[in-house]
Amino acid sequence: MATAAQRQNADTLTDRVAAIVGAANVVAANEAMAPYLTDWRKLFRGRARLVARPGSTAEVAALVRLCAAERIPIVPQGGNTGYMGGATPSERGDAIVVSLARMSRVRALDPANYTMTVEAGCILQQMQEAAAAADRLFPLSLGAEGTCQIGGNLSTNAGGIAVLRYGNMRELALGLEVVLPDGTVWEGLRALRKDNTGYDLKQLFIGAEGTLGIITAAVLKLFPRPRDRVTVLAAVRDLDAALDLLSRCRTATGDALVSFELIPRIGIDLALKHIPTTLDPFPDPHDMCLLIEATAGVPESGLRAALESALAGGFEEGLVLDAVFAESETQARRLWHLREAIVEGQRLEGGNIKHDIAVPISQVPAFIAKAMAAVHEVVPGARPVAFGHLGDGNVHFNLAPPEGADLDSFLAEAPRLAPVVHQVAASFAGSISAEHGLGQLKRDEITRYKSTVELNLMRTLKHALDPHGIMNPGKVVQGG
Ligand SMILES: Cc1cc2nc3c(=O)[nH]c(=O)nc-3n(C[C@H](O)[C@H](O)[C@H](O)COP(=O)(O)OP(=O)(O)OC[C@H]3O[C@@H](n4cnc5c(N)ncnc54)[C@H](O)[C@@H]3O)c2cc1C
Repeated sequence: MATAAQRQNADTLTDRVAAIVGAANVVAANEAMAPYLTDWRKLFRGRARLVARPGSTAEVAALVRLCAAERIPIVPQGGNTGYMGGATPSERGDAIVVSLARMSRVRALDPANYTMTVEAGCILQQMQEAAAAADRLFPLSLGAEGTCQIGGNLSTNAGGIAVLRYGNMRELALGLEVVLPDGTVWEGLRALRKDNTGYDLKQLFIGAEGTLGIITAAVLKLFPRPRDRVTVLAAVRDLDAALDLLSRCRTATGDALVSFELIPRIGIDLALKHIPTTLDPFPDPHDMCLLIEATAGVPESGLRAALESALAGGFEEGLVLDAVFAESETQARRLWHLREAIVEGQRLEGGNIKHDIAVPISQVPAFIAKAMAAVHEVVPGARPVAFGHLGDGNVHFNLAPPEGADLDSFLAEAPRLAPVVHQVAASFAGSISAEHGLGQLKRDEITRYKSTVELNLMRTLKHALDPHGIMNPGKVVQGG
């Protein structure tokens, strides 16, 4: 129960924040705050003094100045779809959450420069649509695109299903506007492909998960809209065959591949079991499939013939067992639906143990073999649900319980299994977080995999930009 003095302090803060963002944009009632205080997977729960929903960069800056003066911790929040608890405040309850949701304007779209300038709260899908309306492509695409925001995508350096061709968020941003931890605004909204004028400051804030400042706007790269698209689901013999096929497809198409996604049988079975709108297009069940997509900027580009010939070559050599080409947009969407339904299927099955690792593409088969051997030492019979972005070396190495085992007892093994899997990834010079960041979940574990030099550099940067440690404390950097 809060004391009278605490209640008065809270009232004062609420009033001062309301004076900045307007009373309607302060959320302070417990029930209304609840969705902001837990993460997508409900792994973390926190408390906060209030949630502020600023509507402009000037309001964000004024809020940060207030918090800097009073040493109030700030937790920036976008669409709250992150997997690492980065947008969830701590249980101390001393922070304010700053939701960027109201800052959702497309400030400018320059088709000739192939750029768009957007506010941080823009929903990813709306940005894709705005680019398409100007006959341009914004290529970032991921399962949460209807909810996640561009500020969150930048802050987590999001990846998704088109990294193979277009790179992750780091490669898609040209400029940023950021409110620094003292409340000053860095106006770095440059729209240049070439700018060699010292340190590339925007890269500091991309992937920083809100620990160095609040991103309020960004200039993003656009691309020509594809005029030809080929989507195919191929059943392959095994992982080595999948890797071989990746090279063949890249060569055959002149590197026009956008996506090369691994779909194991167990993933298809989970999708079919839980998502009634999914369909396995093959008459016989196959152990391992690949969802392959290639695009070209001109219609009738010959991509289909190129992919057909790559697959036919693989078929003759026993690498490819069967393949289904999408003959229409609807069929392509159905194939993608099967891939995307794996995530939801796993959730509806009761959950599993997730590891978002990356290794060099050529090492994925060896990684999976070694990691499964190591996992079986801890939980004999655990089943791999390794799926996702094989084309860029980022397989979601998830684990399902042994056949017939109790799910909760299996999930309780997660803290023992994570270091085992991460150690194997590290032995291949891999990463323990390919695209989801560190947040609070992996903040401590990363200290085992980065050198003292690297960790000290990170702490030095954090301290230089945020000497009072008010910007998303407890995330990414230990002691930060
Ligand atoms: C179904 C599903 C599928 C997913 N698929 C993928 C995938 O394929 N690839 C992938 O990379 N991720 C994926 N994710 C994870 C998630 O969607 C991404 O991490 C996304 O980029 C988070 O964006 P958000 O707006 O929800 O950020 P939030 O969850 O709100 O925040 C994430 C982090 O960024 C910080 N932050 C948010 N906004 C700002 C800002 N404006 N300024 C400074 N810091 C900020 C927060 O403090 C937090 O640390 C998936 C998630 C779900 C639920």
